[in-house]
Amino acid sequence: MRRPPVVRRVGAEGEGIGFAGESAYDRDWRGVLWTRQILARGKGRPQYHTVHTLRQRRAMRHMLCQVCGGPTPEDGPRLFVLRDVGRPVEEGERTTAPPVCVPCARISVRECPRLREGHVAALVDRPYAWGVAGIVHHPITLEPIGTALQEVSYEGFAVRWTLAHRLVVTLHDCTPVDLDALDA
Ligand SMILES: [Zn+2]
Repeated sequence: MRRPPVVRRVGAEGEGIGFAGESAYDRDWRGVLWTRQILARGKGRPQYHTVHTLRQRRAMRHMLCQVCGGPTPEDGPRLFVLRDVGRPVEEGERTTAPPVCVPCARISVRECPRLREGHVAALVDRPYAWGVAGIVHHPITLEPIGTALQEVSYEGFAVRWTLAHRLVVTLHDCTPVDLDALDA
């Protein structure tokens, strides 16, 4: 299926992109437009870090484990496991990787090709919905600006011209942890 082309639309926040036949499901609670995807049925093994758009958004919004979809502790810190970039998880770090439960974290660092090369883990007290990663469109031509996903803040102007693919959170009050030292 072809993606529906975007149109210019005037919303409560001002001008931005929209779909011609928009439904309530096309926008998130911040009014940002999301890409439409067809649900693939009967998929085999989990695709670590290539999670489906809807699933990623739901996992981030409700802080569900990105692998099994189960809840993560409501009253305690959430576990985030990121690819190792040569330093621990930083205060305010941005990520599109939803949290994981401890058993799934142990599996994913063995099975996920990106994490197998090296990972860093942190317990995060305050994950904050920061914005989206998506394709920004030109406000005049409505053409996509580039093909790579750009991280765009909910607070900025560009978010109204962005077709979102991933929810981005920032991680606050982070405590680096060793997965082997955690209780399941
Ligand atoms: Zn899990």
